[in-house]
Amino acid sequence: MGKKQFKTEVSDLLNLIIHSLYSNREIFLRELISNASDAIDKLKYLSLSDEKLKGFSFDPAINISFDSDAKTLTISDNGIGMDEEDLNSNLGTIASSGTKKFLAALGDDAKKNSNLIGQFGVGFYSAFMVASHVTVISRKAGADSAFKWESDGKATYTVSEATRAEQGTDIILKLNEEGEDYANRWQLETLIRKYSDHIAYPIYLEYDQETYKDEKDADGNPVKEVEHKREQVNSASALWTRPKSSITDEEYKEFYKNNYSDSDDPLFYVHTHAEGATEYTTLFYIPKKAPFDMYYADYRPGVKLYVKRVYITDDDKELLPTYLRFVRGVIDSEDLPLNVSREILQENRIMTAIRNGSVKKLLGEFKKLADGNPELYNEFISQYNRPLKEGLYSDWANRESLLELIRYKSSEVDGYTSLAAYKERMKDGQKAIYYISGAKEEILRGSPLIASYKEKGYEVLIMDDEIDDLVAGMIHDYKDLPLKAINKSGAVDDMKEGGEKKAEEASPLKDKLMKQLSAQVKDVIISSRLASDTAAVLVSDENDPSFQMQRLLKQMGGGEGMDDFKPILEVNPSNSLVMKLEATEDEQEASSLARIILDQAFIAEGILPKDPTGFVKELTRILGK
Ligand code: ADP
Repeated sequence: MGKKQFKTEVSDLLNLIIHSLYSNREIFLRELISNASDAIDKLKYLSLSDEKLKGFSFDPAINISFDSDAKTLTISDNGIGMDEEDLNSNLGTIASSGTKKFLAALGDDAKKNSNLIGQFGVGFYSAFMVASHVTVISRKAGADSAFKWESDGKATYTVSEATRAEQGTDIILKLNEEGEDYANRWQLETLIRKYSDHIAYPIYLEYDQETYKDEKDADGNPVKEVEHKREQVNSASALWTRPKSSITDEEYKEFYKNNYSDSDDPLFYVHTHAEGATEYTTLFYIPKKAPFDMYYADYRPGVKLYVKRVYITDDDKELLPTYLRFVRGVIDSEDLPLNVSREILQENRIMTAIRNGSVKKLLGEFKKLADGNPELYNEFISQYNRPLKEGLYSDWANRESLLELIRYKSSEVDGYTSLAAYKERMKDGQKAIYYISGAKEEILRGSPLIASYKEKGYEVLIMDDEIDDLVAGMIHDYKDLPLKAINKSGAVDDMKEGGEKKAEEASPLKDKLMKQLSAQVKDVIISSRLASDTAAVLVSDENDPSFQMQRLLKQMGGGEGMDDFKPILEVNPSNSLVMKLEATEDEQEASSLARIILDQAFIAEGILPKDPTGFVKELTRILGK
């Protein structure tokens, strides 16, 4: 007990919230009500499943009261409550490790989205946007004593003993200048309806109503009567339980925005009631913008599990496969036991059926969108192409569907293309789907290799996403057409038309180049596919990781030995520079030509030659001749 220092992240966060997120102050109420609702969820759940709390009965309620003279606002719930330790760990530190990243990501930019607050589990602290002092009085269910937590949101907080009649929590805000207006009946009603209408528990607002009686006082003024009232403000219905036909688009969107901490409308949503072997309802939303933490290992799952309208968990990464982690929404099962534990969930047949059904439904909906509304689908793909590609890696059962959903950039069309559309456009006799992979789109598009494929009428997919190489390897083939990387050695012979002989004839050229460059390249291949203005390109060995992959592995810290993967130099025997090299008898001349041929191939890949100054000198010297 006594005075304690906030953990540093909390101080940073408080600072940030108070100073940069104030543009949307009113959301503090939604955050506190949502915490209250979670606390009731937890107690309800434990009263069904926990040994000690089994059978604990209570009438769930969230109560909001205010004093407009004293400028205080109190949000109370009769949920699980917190003991001393909980107060310290929940309100004195930031449990979620995503918070640090959140802070880092927000940086100094002051006008960032307040909807990130909830997403990162820092909701409680938003109270300090409107309060100069916050008091939390809480009594944990099953405990005899209560505790009080107090802070002015600066550096410290105190915890002391307190009293409270029953389990639950009061959050008492001493409103600051910016928050004064919230101690007002109409303001509060509006905010509760706006943000918390679908909260499953009744939210009561207490207020004093003044009425004038028919009598007059001694001075002839009407006599005022003050009546204390308590009224439920929210509709407290679980939206997903209502029939689809009775729900408006507006209601669906509001539900999303109020429950999933997003200020944007969702891109689209899918509401399904499944009956049969298992009965369940799902309401899924696809956010317009990919969730902030989509690429963090400790992302927050976005789907909540309910059993017969009773909340079970919102923190289960198994409800949907990892690659669908951007989906938000609700799964409500009629068949699962209420006291289902996380371990049981993982092996539960009912849960597996729900999960498989949900994935099929979602992928089916994505396909419908792709076919029916390409514009919206493009928006979807701009956010979620990558997770879908991940799906190809992890979800064999849905491989066929996923192959129709992923998109690639292409040498032939603007924007994105599907594999199906590529196949459709293929010219007769083409035996593979060609792609080029690497880090930068412009560099890939400018590759001399693409130029020569295009010239022959072949479309090339541009794979510039880090994971593309891995995924292309995983896809392997699409409807019996192998995927081939044109910048790997396996595709080098693809366009040869009886060119065998030429390659043999040219082999003294290969020897000459290898003699000069063996330290830098793994092999030299005499090309039959390059356009004449291209002297040489770099390709990687079919069996080596691609340059892109090597970079990725290095980034992940596992890249030792990566420098051992040398590129292969593919030279064009019909190029004048190469012919010059072939013809020269002068050792010095051969060395500098070989060097220029290699270095310009590096440059075309967007890689600076090892010794740029030396390269420029050689080039100038040769050109000057
Ligand atoms: P989040 O709710 O996103 O986890 P908060 O900062 O809002 O983050 O709250 C931190 C933690 O404090 C919660 O996870 C919860 O354990 C606890 N807490 C907050 N409000 C309440 C409440 N009204 N009753 C019980 N516990 C609460």
